Amino acid sequence: MTKTATRRPEPKPYIMGIHAYVPGKSSGRDGRALVKLSANENPLGSSPAALEALANPRGAEAGAAPYPDPDSKDLRMALAELHGLDPARIACGTGSDELLNLAAQAFAGAGDEVMFSRHSFAVYDIAARRCGAVPVEVNDTNFTADVDALLAAVTESTRVVFLANPNNPTGTWLPPSEVERLHALLPEDVLLVIDEAYGEYLAPEFQRVGFGLAAQYENVLVTRTFSKIYGLAAERIGWATGAPHVIDALNRIRGPFNVTTGGQKAALTAVGDQDFVRASRDHNSAERTKFADAIAALGNHGLTCVPSEANFLLVRFEGDVTAEAALDALAGAGYAVRHLPAQGLPDALRITIGKSEDMEQVIATLRTLCGEAS
Ligand SMILES: *Cc1c(COP(=O)(O)O)cnc(C)c1O
Repeated sequence: MTKTATRRPEPKPYIMGIHAYVPGKSSGRDGRALVKLSANENPLGSSPAALEALANPRGAEAGAAPYPDPDSKDLRMALAELHGLDPARIACGTGSDELLNLAAQAFAGAGDEVMFSRHSFAVYDIAARRCGAVPVEVNDTNFTADVDALLAAVTESTRVVFLANPNNPTGTWLPPSEVERLHALLPEDVLLVIDEAYGEYLAPEFQRVGFGLAAQYENVLVTRTFSKIYGLAAERIGWATGAPHVIDALNRIRGPFNVTTGGQKAALTAVGDQDFVRASRDHNSAERTKFADAIAALGNHGLTCVPSEANFLLVRFEGDVTAEAALDALAGAGYAVRHLPAQGLPDALRITIGKSEDMEQVIATLRTLCGEAS
């Protein structure tokens, strides 16, 4: 039995100020398993070759389980070749979450400010507080990061700015000209972290702005992940590219063996299967367009969606049909989606683009809820 002591170790107050990240649900209130459209996973799964690599990551050395390559060298080389980057300017992480946290920790601390847009990724607030920095949430405009508002909020204490592009949970994006303007007008000693977890969902001609800035300037870090379009979220593999001194700082504080052997092998193989990536992007944009059209057709019931460049749609409910009612109806039909009242979105649901047949069911459920024949 634990005795109640008069003195005990107390976590730092800034740690107790953190609200733990709430993962997307995969079951209903009654515990029944639901199709998960709540975590922005790839409905096509992952590259079959990558899954094969994962099943037998050590090949002839199967059975032996030494530490993984601490530098993820082969994976960094493959990423560098695919994207035309310098492998020395790449660091890999236990998911991009690790890298986002490390970026805040390496460049901000007590008394410093870490800035991000309202209605953005919940991890940024946690990353700021974890290192004792002050999280500064800046108003967005039409669910989109507002470059002028971000710039106006910069103070002498600002050390890191997080920009998710495309953004989660809204799906909106800043075009290259706006990302470049934000960078150009930020002080040179502020680190701009461009979180491109959904970067591969953009048309290829819009995918390079972050890499271009990260290659050219000392204050830009771009993060990417194998969790979204590559469909390897279970393996926890992310990566980042930036200037040598930024990568060096991350390497000093990351876990020394932070990507497993299986994860490195699977990711390396997945990089080699760009056909799977293209097929996933094509599936997503076709289904997202159909879904957005179906929501637009329910506009007279107060349903709208925020224009999305990612693998999900933020659907807003501003008529008789509430987000809660839609959440329950979709659960009844077998689907878990994301309700984010704690992120200031009580009247919206974030719905991941799933398989075609699942999207048809989701649309039919929403139409029935609105009293439209489906
Ligand atoms: C999903 C997501 C991540 C990726 O997290 P991992 O740790 O790589 O799985 C990062 N940023 C945003 C905005 C995301 O939505």
